[in-house]
Amino acid sequence: MAIKEKIVKEFNAQLQRELYSAYLYLAMAAYFETTGLKGFAHWMKNQAQEERLHADRFYDFIVSRGGVVELEAIEKPPTSWDSYLHAFEETLKHEESVTTFIHDLADISIAEKDHAAHSFLKYFIDEQVEEEDTVNDIIAKLKLVKDSAGGLFMLDTELGGRPEPTAIDGGPA
Ligand code: MG
Repeated sequence: MAIKEKIVKEFNAQLQRELYSAYLYLAMAAYFETTGLKGFAHWMKNQAQEERLHADRFYDFIVSRGGVVELEAIEKPPTSWDSYLHAFEETLKHEESVTTFIHDLADISIAEKDHAAHSFLKYFIDEQVEEEDTVNDIIAKLKLVKDSAGGLFMLDTELGGRPEPTAIDGGPA
């Protein structure tokens, strides 16, 4: 079934948003590199990599349906945050906005009767629940440790253990 232009346009917009997410988290990784919290930086770098894999999925879906990929400009992310906690609060805020966009895309897919697009989006609906949950956990821990050097060191070690994402983490092929 030929893909409708409206779906192509919305999917291209999401492709851009996934790439912006990657850019934002890479900027946060760079910020954490300057703080000595290498584990936090590692977590953010892997988060950025996962977002690039998400972008690949949207790219592949558009191409596989015979649509034309159109890359939009990517906004410059901030270079620093007020605190470690602030960076993760901004991460949560960003993920919540991505969730809203994914839900809007699902609504549009239903309205346009594009069941393939809707099926594709299911993975991302579930993925967003996981993203928000993970970031909420980190925020809760950061609030617990406050400025405790020992607590931050432990959290840094924990976040440093995040495995590198593989294609499977990017979503269904
Ligand atoms: Mg994503």
